Amino acid sequence: MRLKFWGVRGSIPTPGPTTVKYGGNTTCMQLIGDNEIPINGEMLIIDAGSGIRELGVELLNLPKPLKINLLITHTHMDHINGFPFFLPAFIPGTKIDIYGPLHYEKKLEEIFAGQMDYSYFPISTAQLAAEINYHELNEGEFDLGNLHVTTHYMNHPVLTLGYRVTDGKKTFVYTGDHEPYFDIIGDAESDEMDKADEEDVKAIVEHQNRRLIEFFSGADTLVCDAAYTPEEYQTHRGWGHGSTDHAVDWAVEAGVKKLVLFHHEPTHNDQQLEEMESYAREKIKNAGAELEVTTACEKEIVE
Ligand SMILES: [Zn+2]
Ligand SMILES: [Zn+2]
Repeated sequence: MRLKFWGVRGSIPTPGPTTVKYGGNTTCMQLIGDNEIPINGEMLIIDAGSGIRELGVELLNLPKPLKINLLITHTHMDHINGFPFFLPAFIPGTKIDIYGPLHYEKKLEEIFAGQMDYSYFPISTAQLAAEINYHELNEGEFDLGNLHVTTHYMNHPVLTLGYRVTDGKKTFVYTGDHEPYFDIIGDAESDEMDKADEEDVKAIVEHQNRRLIEFFSGADTLVCDAAYTPEEYQTHRGWGHGSTDHAVDWAVEAGVKKLVLFHHEPTHNDQQLEEMESYAREKIKNAGAELEVTTACEKEIVE
């Protein structure tokens, strides 16, 4: 089981000469076997950012009909904006099962249809030829063919699920967009909380962060939101993205074998991403840990 990245960028596509090395497409990854083919007939794609467009073109070379499972971490634009350009959705006979977090205001299907409303796009979801089924998820577990998938809520300004996927031999975890839980009320320096309340909030925050370490624990590969440098994070707390410091700390604590820095900030050019990886490598060395670290790169495959 290996991962191929089709989009590694967060927020907005960033094509151009300064992002050629790592790529400018927004989030999309595909689970592949040894020969870049679906595992046991189960095609698994995670997130449908702009990177899914090129993946869709490549999938047209496979024998039809295609059966595709698409896991969505959350419905922010950079994670679904490639779906209207995903060609298999236009092919009769294709079956697409879309899984994503349960929202209480809108159904997953409505959100996907919303970005293909005539105000934004010329073709509606009703005109797509594929059979598309939507599955709304909470925290839990389910099987897709021989793959076992576990979901976990992450800390982001909309309901977001991280995914842990195993084929029984290898396990990878993808955080989606995420920053550590923190004490929002205490940070606001409210006078309304007494000491006991403060201790309660602190315990809840610690508990939430501890649960996530357990979710990451022992994974072969952790694909982690590391959008910011530690300095940038200081002015972006609450925006829903972590830093290289967070990613390394989680990976070391959870004992993962390989850390993949992901969801690159659109303002970061190739050189800055290289510097962030060097920083992470140094931090791992200083922690006395042995895990590998790499920066997610479009079209590259990680074991
Ligand atoms: Zn994002
Ligand atoms: Zn997001």
